Amino acid sequence: MNLSSLSASSASSHPLAPYGWDEGWEAEFAPYAEQGLLPGRVVRVDRGQCDVVTADGTVRADTEFVVPRDPMKVVCTGDWVAVDPGGDPRYVRLYLPRRTAFVRSTSSKRSDGQVLAANVDHAVLVVSLAVELDLGRVERFLALAWESGAQPVVVLGKADLVPDPVTLAHLVHDVGTSAPGVPVLGVSALHGDGLDALVALVGSGTSVLLGQSGAGKSTLANALVGEDVMDVRAARDVDGKGRHTTTTRNLLVLPSGGVLIDTPGLRGVGLFDAASGVGQVFSEIEELAERCRFPDCAHEAEPDCAVRSAVDSGELSPRRLESYRKLTRENQWIVAKTDARVRAERGRHWRRKEAEGKAAREVKRARYR
Ligand code: GDP
Ligand code: ZN
Repeated sequence: MNLSSLSASSASSHPLAPYGWDEGWEAEFAPYAEQGLLPGRVVRVDRGQCDVVTADGTVRADTEFVVPRDPMKVVCTGDWVAVDPGGDPRYVRLYLPRRTAFVRSTSSKRSDGQVLAANVDHAVLVVSLAVELDLGRVERFLALAWESGAQPVVVLGKADLVPDPVTLAHLVHDVGTSAPGVPVLGVSALHGDGLDALVALVGSGTSVLLGQSGAGKSTLANALVGEDVMDVRAARDVDGKGRHTTTTRNLLVLPSGGVLIDTPGLRGVGLFDAASGVGQVFSEIEELAERCRFPDCAHEAEPDCAVRSAVDSGELSPRRLESYRKLTRENQWIVAKTDARVRAERGRHWRRKEAEGKAAREVKRARYR
């Protein structure tokens, strides 16, 4: 059953609908609404406090109460939370189970993960056409995106620098080959070419822009928001006590629909425990590997290796196999230093998320099988 086709209910006319409130969240929140709690979405987090948009405006609340000192359970931008309208001090009582989550390990020494953004539907990877395409880097970002649970999208930005449409089509095709199941769009934020397709894509749900510094994320964000993001971010809000305050938002409502999350920490994020993400980026290699003689084949010197024979026959590029090996090794190393508690949390998250999101993605990927 398709929930969105039944969307004549109250969720679509809710004041939070532009922020992504839907029937699913409404149903999850019902028990808390009965307790007199208000739903809201976190638009910014800093040092134990967060800004939450609610039907009554933006309120500032303490986050520490939820689960102290567990970085995986700290409220983050994009979370749907319950706040107590009369609470003083006000705090976030709980957040609803996350549909998706971007996580990274906080540092090389500490082993715990940090949630960077929650409930992201589209992970838009911005790649600049002003510099040579680095497919390895694209694959790395895509692994991260798949792992989060969001649907990746690749934008080949600054497309005005490739004036020949045939060349541009080739580039789009090349990236598509490295990105099974991922839409690839050529977009010029400068001239507006291809922007409509991106606007349509991010027009429902919540999106993030990922990619290297200088790739064109800010310019694209401004084009999507329709004005300078920095101005839009400094929203004037009424806090819980009726005072006017200026808050900086990391979650913005787009004029033609959809929500954009843009946090400094998320933009240049690297790889983390992304085993299943790596598998999705290299799905054709994992499919080939099923035909290797040995189930634990490393595709190095083993006899009857289907992966190496695909390289020999030209079906699989050596660059792609090397990239797969590199990402797999790096990922194993990160997994080894990530402690069991975090992995257990991620496991629970995945089982829940997979049940919810798998069917939808199966449909999208089916044409690549
Ligand atoms: P960010 O670091 O990813 O946010 O990148 P910016 O948005 O700041 O853009 C980096 C540079 O690329 C700036 O000098 C922009 O003017 C330029 N740029 C951004 N989008 C385009 C585009 O569509 N075409 C061209 N030619 N340049 C662009
Ligand atoms: Zn093999």
